[in-house]
Amino acid sequence: MQEDTISAVATAVGEGGIGVVRLSGKNALNVAARLFQSSTQKDIERSIKSQIYYGHIVDPKDNSLVDEVLLLVMKAPHSYTREDVVEIQCHGGSVVLRRILGLTLRSGARLAEPGEFTKRAFLNGRLDLTQAEAVIDIIRAKTDASLKMAIGHLEGELAGKINQLRGRILEMIAQLEATIDFPEENIEELPAESVNASLQKIVDEIESLLSTSAAGRILQDGLQTVIIGKPNVGKSSLLNALLRENRAIVTDVPGTTRDSIEEFVNLRGIPLRIVDTAGIRDTSDEVEKIGVDRSRAFVERADLVLVLLDASQPLSQEDHQVLSLLADRKAIILINKSDLPEKLVRDELAGYVGERQIITISVAAGLGLDVLEQCIAEMVFQGSVGVSEGAFINNVRQENILRLALQNLMEAKNTIVAGLPADFQVIDLRSAWEKLGELSGETVSEDIINEIFSRFCIGK
Ligand code: GDP
Repeated sequence: MQEDTISAVATAVGEGGIGVVRLSGKNALNVAARLFQSSTQKDIERSIKSQIYYGHIVDPKDNSLVDEVLLLVMKAPHSYTREDVVEIQCHGGSVVLRRILGLTLRSGARLAEPGEFTKRAFLNGRLDLTQAEAVIDIIRAKTDASLKMAIGHLEGELAGKINQLRGRILEMIAQLEATIDFPEENIEELPAESVNASLQKIVDEIESLLSTSAAGRILQDGLQTVIIGKPNVGKSSLLNALLRENRAIVTDVPGTTRDSIEEFVNLRGIPLRIVDTAGIRDTSDEVEKIGVDRSRAFVERADLVLVLLDASQPLSQEDHQVLSLLADRKAIILINKSDLPEKLVRDELAGYVGERQIITISVAAGLGLDVLEQCIAEMVFQGSVGVSEGAFINNVRQENILRLALQNLMEAKNTIVAGLPADFQVIDLRSAWEKLGELSGETVSEDIINEIFSRFCIGK
């Protein structure tokens, strides 16, 4: 258990029905007892079990009343951090919260660092690192699908998978070591094929986990999507149609959407971060130029580019400029305004299509948008992995660790193929076992732990 007692406002900034000041540590009850007057004269420091008390926070300096509160006492180890935790539920105003926080700091607690409550939960063994990461993922979840993934992680889906893989590797190490350490006992050496086969199974499972990483990261951070096209082609209308609300300015005057707007769209559970850009074209207008440059920059950073063309006009020089921005980016070509007579010659697109899908839509008439949504969903899940299926890899840290562990396992396989003695396999297997331990946090350095928790907010 950590020595000091920490305190922080756990609820979001701003006005709310209630606000919570959270304390955790050995002296949590003592700190709270200095400030809290129970309406039934209960001595909360004597609490032997978790309990809720009703009463008031009183400034000990002058006995002035600060707020009417509920006090939630959670005795170690039955708390979020596994330490004694007290949550003071007061009214949700920033002055009252700050005042109560200040009183806890004057009474023996220190201000918690970002993520320190969850860090303590990790250090005290209540959560492993994948579960701790899931806490922040839950807070930041953008769609039901991202929430589902994060909850799965919090419930230990990924942790369980990793532990199981580590267990199997450890078992192989033990068997191999037995043949090395006790050659006189005639322990039967494991046949190379059987070691190889067990290894291959683990390799397959890690590869299958890795194959979820693209979708996992998209569910977590959103699919960075950019809508490009010449002025008046329907970019803002498309964004609005996807948002089903009119936040961007839709106008008939070319080039009015000059700045870019980023919005989140929930597309079949996939959070799309859509950037709506100004028309891309060469111009002497300074403001417009910024729009053009930004569009180019957005295309470079985008996971997916939606290119809009106007079915009712022949392909123009501007369209060619827009299409040439695509280079090798993942893109869908959308032919909009299909409700109007078609003047666009589709053959002229040949040079830009390649593997890309062309979808005919009419934002005005609401045609083809379901096809677009289906196409994006298939791109993200690549037809195979759905959100409901098991553990996901959803951050770069997890992905890198798995890749390195995979490398160790491949090296172990190579030593078998090369006919090298078991010692060599043990070395590689041990490295893989340790690497995977970094995922759960068992074999991870303090720097990495600090880095992970520094991304949390204060009070979590
Ligand atoms: P942006 O400059 O690319 O953002 O284009 P806007 O979204 O502002 O649309 C320009 C004009 O085209 C507006 O008057 C829209 O109502 C119209 N428009 C957008 N989509 C369609 C469509 O599918 N069919 C028709 N006929 N008009 C459309």
